[in-house]
Amino acid sequence: MTTATTTKTAASPLSAILFTAMLGTGLVFMLGVAQSQTLHDAAHDMRHATGFACH
Ligand SMILES: [Zn+2]
Repeated sequence: MTTATTTKTAASPLSAILFTAMLGTGLVFMLGVAQSQTLHDAAHDMRHATGFACH
């Protein structure tokens, strides 16, 4: 019995924007806490991918 596959697709553009904003804030917070070079490199790449202000 296959039940309720919760469709987490962005229904409204607002939720997509909110998710991106939360993701960006989370990445910046993570960088502040754990300043590992690997994490920074990954987060930096993600920032560019999400269009977050970087450099
Ligand atoms: Zn950059």
